[in-house]
Amino acid sequence: MNRILFLALLFALCGNSVAQNARDKGLSIISAENAQNYIGFLADDFLQGRGAGTEGGRMAAAYIVSLLADWGVAPLLDDGYCQPFEAVKSTDAYNKRWEISLDSLSVLGKKAGYEVVALNNILAVIPGKNSDEMVIIGAHYDHMGNDYPVLGDSCYNGADDNASGVSAVLQIAKAMKLSGAVPRRTVVFAFWDAEERGLLGSRHFVSTLCGNAEIKAYMNFDMIGRGPKSNPSHLSYFYSAANAAFGEWLRDDCKKHSFCFLPDYRPTENLNVGSDNASFARLGIPVVWYHTEGHPDYHLPSDVAKKIDYRKLTDITRAAYLCAWRLANEKDY
Ligand SMILES: [Zn+2]
Repeated sequence: MNRILFLALLFALCGNSVAQNARDKGLSIISAENAQNYIGFLADDFLQGRGAGTEGGRMAAAYIVSLLADWGVAPLLDDGYCQPFEAVKSTDAYNKRWEISLDSLSVLGKKAGYEVVALNNILAVIPGKNSDEMVIIGAHYDHMGNDYPVLGDSCYNGADDNASGVSAVLQIAKAMKLSGAVPRRTVVFAFWDAEERGLLGSRHFVSTLCGNAEIKAYMNFDMIGRGPKSNPSHLSYFYSAANAAFGEWLRDDCKKHSFCFLPDYRPTENLNVGSDNASFARLGIPVVWYHTEGHPDYHLPSDVAKKIDYRKLTDITRAAYLCAWRLANEKDY
C-alpha cells in the first residue's frame, strides 16, 4: 500500500471511530433516572394533566424549555423556543375537537359559544453540516387536563400519554447535544401542543414549512412506557414501508444491544393516522413511530407515573437514539 493511501485509510478509520465514540458517549447519557425525573414532573398532579391552553400546559412548556436551554440545545426560531399559534374551541365541554384553520378562527372566533385559545409548540435545533436536509424528532406534550371525574379523580396525568414520549425526545436531544458531534443533517426537536384536540401543533408546524430544507424523516413518540398485559415487552415499530432501512437498523441494533423490549416490525404504506406522524406522512415524509399500544388506563386519570415500565422505556429511548443518529448521519436511506 502506498503511503498516501495508507494515511487516507488511517484518517478515515480515525474519523469513523471519533464519530462512534461521540455516538456512544451520547448513548451512555440516556438513563432510567432521567426518564423518572421528566415524567415525575410532567405527570404530577401539580400540572393538572397538561391541558392545551391551560396553566398546567404552560408550566410543562416552561419546564421543557428550561431543560433544553440548560443543555445548550438552541431554539429553532429567532425569537425563542416557542412557536405560538391559536385554535378556536366550543365552550361546550363535550366538543373535544378544536379548529386551527384561519377561516375557522376568523368566523367561529367571533361567534357566541366559541373562544380562541393560545397554544405553543416548543422547537429546538442542533444545526447540521448540511442545513439543506433536516430530521425532525417529536412528541406531543399536552394531555387532557382536568376532565370527567373517575372514582373522584379528575386530573388526567398522562404519564404514558405522552410524558413518556416527551421524556424520550428530551433524552435524545440531551444525548445528541452532549455527544459533542455536529451531525451531517440539521436535527429539530419538537414538542407539540394540542395533539389531543386534533394533532393541532404538528399540523400548524407543517403549515409553516417554507420548503428551504428537505425533511428526510420524522420520528414520533406517542405512548412508549407501558405494554399490553399479555405481552408487556411489546413495541410496535411503525415505519414507512418505502424505507426498508429503518427496519434493518433496528434489527441490527437489537443484535448489538440486549434491549429488553420485543419489536413488532410494522412497515406501513400509510401512516396518516394515529398521532402526530400523520401530519408528516400526509406530505410524503418518511416516518418512524414508536408506540407500546393501549392499556386499561388509556385516557383515564389512572395513567400515572408509577405505572410506567422505566426499564423498557429507557431501552426504547436508547434504540431510538441510535436510529436518530443514523437518520442524522447516514449518507443515504
Ligand atoms: Zn398521545
